[in-house]
Amino acid sequence: MSDETFRALVVEESATGRSVELRDLPLASLPAGEVLVRVAYSTLNYKDGLAVTGKGKILRMNPMAPGIDFAGTVVESASPDYRPGDEVILTGWGVGERFWGGFSQLNRVKAEWLVPLPAGLSLQRAMALGTAGLTAMLCVLALEGHGLEAGEREVVVTGAAGGVGSVAVALLAKAGYRVVASTGRPDEADYLKALGASEVVDRATFTAPGKPLERERWAGAVDTVGGATLGGIFRAMAYHGVVAACGNAGGVDFSASVFPFILRGVRLIGVDSVLVPFAERQVAWQRMARDLDPALIDQMTEVIALSDVPAYSETITNGRVRGRVVVDVNS
Ligand code: NDP
Repeated sequence: MSDETFRALVVEESATGRSVELRDLPLASLPAGEVLVRVAYSTLNYKDGLAVTGKGKILRMNPMAPGIDFAGTVVESASPDYRPGDEVILTGWGVGERFWGGFSQLNRVKAEWLVPLPAGLSLQRAMALGTAGLTAMLCVLALEGHGLEAGEREVVVTGAAGGVGSVAVALLAKAGYRVVASTGRPDEADYLKALGASEVVDRATFTAPGKPLERERWAGAVDTVGGATLGGIFRAMAYHGVVAACGNAGGVDFSASVFPFILRGVRLIGVDSVLVPFAERQVAWQRMARDLDPALIDQMTEVIALSDVPAYSETITNGRVRGRVVVDVNS
C-alpha cells in the first residue's frame, strides 16, 4: 500500500500560468487524515466548474485536486466509526476547496466529514445525487420545517434543469407537491415533466418587471439561481409562503419590496450544505435513499471520465449541463 500511486486531476497555478492535468502521485502526497478512502465516483457541481475553469476563486491550496464530493470504500481507518470495506459519502467541509478533493482515486479525510452510504443507494447513485442532491433535500426539509404541506398549492423550483433543481423537482413531486419547474431551456420540458413537474415556466417570468405584489401563487419555492430571479419570486408568494434559497447561478445581489414579508408573512430561509451537521446530513441521505426511484436518478445522470472534467467544467459554468454529472475517477 505504502508504495501505491494514484491518479488525480490537479490544478496548479505557477508563475508561467495555470495548468489542469491528470497526474500520477505517490500515496505519501495525500494530506494527513483519519480515514483513507478509495474513491469510486465524484461529481461535477457548479462550484467544481468554477474551480477547474478558474472562473471563480474556489481553490485555496496549490497544487490542488478539485471535487467537492466523493463516494468510495474505506481502505484504512484510525477512527472507531469506520472500518476497511465500509462504503462512505463525503460532501462539503471545504473538500475540493481548502482540502484535497474528490477528483482523485484516493483521499484521506477526517472521519467526522463522512456519512455511511445509506441502504438502498449504490456508490454511483449516491454521487448522482451528491452535493446537489443533499442541497435539494435540505431545501425540501427546510420548506417542510417551516410549515409547507403537500396539497393543491404550487411549489416553484428555479434553475430546474440544473443539478440541484432536477433533484428538488423529483423530491418535491415524490412528496406530493404540485411542482412548477422554472427553466431557461424550454426544450427540457419533457425531461422536467418526467422528473415530476406538473408545469414548466420560462425563467423570464421572475426577472421581468412587475408589481411588488402579484396574485398569490407559490406556497413554496426552491431557488438555486439567486440574483434578480430570487427577488422576483417574492412577488407571487402566497400567504405564509416559504422560500429556500441555496444558489447563485444567476447572480448574488437581489432586491425586493418588503410587502411580501410584512403583508403576507413570507419567509426566506437560507440553505447551506457545506457545514451542515452530521445528524441533518444523515436524515437527508436516508430520505433520499428512501424516496428517490433509482430509475429516476439514472434518468438525470450522465457519467464521465476524469479526463472529461475540464470540458464539462466549461459547459456547467455556461449553464448548459442537464441534471447531474457523475465522474468515474477510475475510467
Ligand atoms: P447547475 O449549473 O447544474 O444548475 C444551475 C442552473 O441554474 C442551470 O442549469 C440553469 O437552469 C440556471 N441558470 C444558470 N445560469 C443562469 C442565469 N444566468 N440566470 C438564470 N438561471 C441560470 O448548478 P447546481 O445545480 O450544481 O448548483 C446550483 C446553484 O446552487 C449554484 O449557484 C451552486 O453554487 C449552488 N449550490 C449551493 C449549495 C449550498 O450549500 N448552498 C450546494 C450546491 C450548490 P435552467 O437552464 O433550468 O434555467
